[in-house]
Amino acid sequence: MKLVEPIVGWQAEMADIRRDIHAHPELAYEEVRTADLVARLLESWGIPTHRGMGVTGVVGIIKGLTPGTRAVGLRADMDALPMQEANTFAHASKHAGVMHACGHDGHTAMLLAAARYLAQSRDFAGTIYVIFQPAEEGFSGAKKMIDDGLFERFPMEAVFGMHNWPGMKAGTFAVHDGPVMASSNTFEITIRGKGAHAAMPNLGHDPVMAAVQLAQAFQTIITRELDPLDPAVLSITQIHSGSADNVIPDDAVMRGTVRTFSDQAIDLIEKRMREIATLTCQALNCSADFIFDRRYPPTLNHSDEAAFCVEVLHDLVGPSAVDQTRAPSMGAEDFAFMLKEKPGCYVWIGNGDGDHRSHGHGLGPCMLHNSSYDFNDEVLPLGASYWVELARRRLARPPDAG
Ligand SMILES: [Zn+2]
Ligand SMILES: [Zn+2]
Repeated sequence: MKLVEPIVGWQAEMADIRRDIHAHPELAYEEVRTADLVARLLESWGIPTHRGMGVTGVVGIIKGLTPGTRAVGLRADMDALPMQEANTFAHASKHAGVMHACGHDGHTAMLLAAARYLAQSRDFAGTIYVIFQPAEEGFSGAKKMIDDGLFERFPMEAVFGMHNWPGMKAGTFAVHDGPVMASSNTFEITIRGKGAHAAMPNLGHDPVMAAVQLAQAFQTIITRELDPLDPAVLSITQIHSGSADNVIPDDAVMRGTVRTFSDQAIDLIEKRMREIATLTCQALNCSADFIFDRRYPPTLNHSDEAAFCVEVLHDLVGPSAVDQTRAPSMGAEDFAFMLKEKPGCYVWIGNGDGDHRSHGHGLGPCMLHNSSYDFNDEVLPLGASYWVELARRRLARPPDAG
């Protein structure tokens, strides 16, 4: 492993920063303390910063000693989750019901260390933007920063992301060429029928029967209409209707989620769900209000950038520590919005199998979003070194390479 030397020496400081953020988690768009900490540290290292992008986002601007018009972006996320932490170690959350259970504390600390090193060395040509985004956990902080002019105010040729992954050995990475995380979409269907006495169904139009038929028919979109090599999940998670044993209700509401790895799959599923809902309800003398909300698009790594990340990682940790065949995740990721605007790649860094867990951890080992989760401080210098190597090498590469 060829870590960037000064960064290795910052391990304890990085862990302190990480644990401080972990102890003070903040929810989407409320990352005031975290953003202030980030901006103050960047400024203390001589890095000009822009605060308040996408509400609480921060961008640091690091210029190389050699002037140049090229630029790249490195992105970390800062928000925590609305859940109660089960861990009882010293750096456990001090805010009841809020927890860094996705490791964004670690992502922030790694990018900070990389920024500090890059600002000290400035041994590159062009500009490196370090992007600390808010509200990754379901509230589109990346999109908010883009809408706020991220890529116009800070033009960059490519943007890169990284997420820790529990269950993958510390010291390893996974890189996907193409889909890495799924799209996340929700739907709500209100079926309007006509209520009646349950003993006289002929006098009403039963919305419950329509809901049952829709639930079954929707699955045929996945099994009969979608390309079987383009995976998708359609889950109906709620059906609400009725209030008495002997009353046919007026209406029924269905809600659920759709996950896909391609935009084509979402287009098809939304279109067919709408048609099936409308026409089936019509056939049953009911009507349907159909709402389909596209939250996060699929996270699709760009091939050239994925290959470039692999190249950088091969030199950093060796080919045997870079998994290029790991299955993508059905979870979703806000960085998807950035990859729709710019070429880039989002890699996973192994958080270990739980060896870092010690006294004060809850039950575990565990996955992200578990109340016993904790970021593995051991990988901080590795993640920071990856950022440094990635950015420097990208800017040193001929612009049309790849
Ligand atoms: Zn998460
Ligand atoms: Zn996350």
